[in-house]
Amino acid sequence: MLKITTLGAAKEVGRSAFLVNSNNTNILLDYGVLLKREPIFPIHVKPKDIDAVVITHAHLDHSGFVPFLFLNTEAKLEALGTVPTFELSQLLIQDMLKISGFYLPFEFSDLINMINHSINIDYRTKHSVKDVDITLYESGHVLGGSTVTVETEGKRIFYTGDINTRGSKVLRPADLDVGEIDLLIIESTYSQAEQVPREQSEKELVDFATEVVERKGIMFIPAFSVERAQEIACVLKAYNFPYRIAMDGMALKANQIMLKYPKFLREPEVFKKSIEEVENITSWDRRRRVVKQPGVIISPAGMLVGGSAVFYLQELCKDQLNGIALVSYQGEGTPGRSLLEKRQVTFGGKIIKCFAEVKRFEFSGHNSRKELFEILDKVKGNPHVLTVHGDNHSCTKFAEEINEKYGFKAHAPDPAEVTTI
Ligand SMILES: [Zn+2]
Ligand SMILES: [Zn+2]
Repeated sequence: MLKITTLGAAKEVGRSAFLVNSNNTNILLDYGVLLKREPIFPIHVKPKDIDAVVITHAHLDHSGFVPFLFLNTEAKLEALGTVPTFELSQLLIQDMLKISGFYLPFEFSDLINMINHSINIDYRTKHSVKDVDITLYESGHVLGGSTVTVETEGKRIFYTGDINTRGSKVLRPADLDVGEIDLLIIESTYSQAEQVPREQSEKELVDFATEVVERKGIMFIPAFSVERAQEIACVLKAYNFPYRIAMDGMALKANQIMLKYPKFLREPEVFKKSIEEVENITSWDRRRRVVKQPGVIISPAGMLVGGSAVFYLQELCKDQLNGIALVSYQGEGTPGRSLLEKRQVTFGGKIIKCFAEVKRFEFSGHNSRKELFEILDKVKGNPHVLTVHGDNHSCTKFAEEINEKYGFKAHAPDPAEVTTI
């Protein structure tokens, strides 16, 4: 009998974590954090009971709490993932330690211990942990991102992690050729919302950027450092945007990691050319000058919670000729959300009114509702389905719809709920 315990991402987005237990072998699929004012962790497990932890991708809601499993330097468990996943996870977890280290029960040395226990796995290459076979497949969501199959006792589990079956300018679409399955753990982020078609978002963004620069304004695009920042630069380049594009902050470090792994990119040469043409802002001197010349500036953090984005926002929101394009999800209570809803932000107790033109564009790395159902259309077998990684309504309704449409046993698990197959 296979036991699957939902340790996080139950009717919520954040702290993804699932425990698969078979004959005393314990495999964790992701062990992430939920980033609120202070980070919230998944349900506790004893690291000594765990044989391996699979990290599907570098985003902190999937990778962020894995170092906690490596507090003991003698740790015997192994961390499994693709090579870019480990490099990007290290970058993001290091940054989280810098920002919220005070709230975290692990430190930098534990992150290094995790890296020392990591095993790099290629897509479609089986890796065995005792009697359990683990295979990663391309997820299309972020560089090195994967979905996972876990096989044991003649049963197969497929966990989508975060998935994008249409791909992007930077990444190929997810690989759905995973064979027959008995349990599907599927993300539900946009199960109840239709997204703006990608091409439409791209065109509107390029038009807005052109308009702002041609009226001699500066266009600021706060974006997540891993993937979104690069995707936006590649979109502008693909549409032959003729003006200066500058990039700042941690996105530059992510560029270097992404350039190191061309085989994980959709079109490595196009990516390389686009990124090399971007102007890197690495000093305060350049930063102060770039806000005085028309052009585009891309910089993290995507929700304006920190990084050089704060400086750019403060400088650029004063002038109505400037534009601010929000291209990432803006979480509740973040400065980005306040900018979007109230045209003002508060930094250090000071309210700053925004006079620049603010627009929002949808550039999600997740499947749309239609694309989520396309996964179910393609599923082989008669799997039990767990809908996770979405708000309560998105998970619950999605499970009902799957049950009605396909006849699969489907439900949205609660935290700590155990499912057996
Ligand atoms: Zn993700
Ligand atoms: Zn996620």
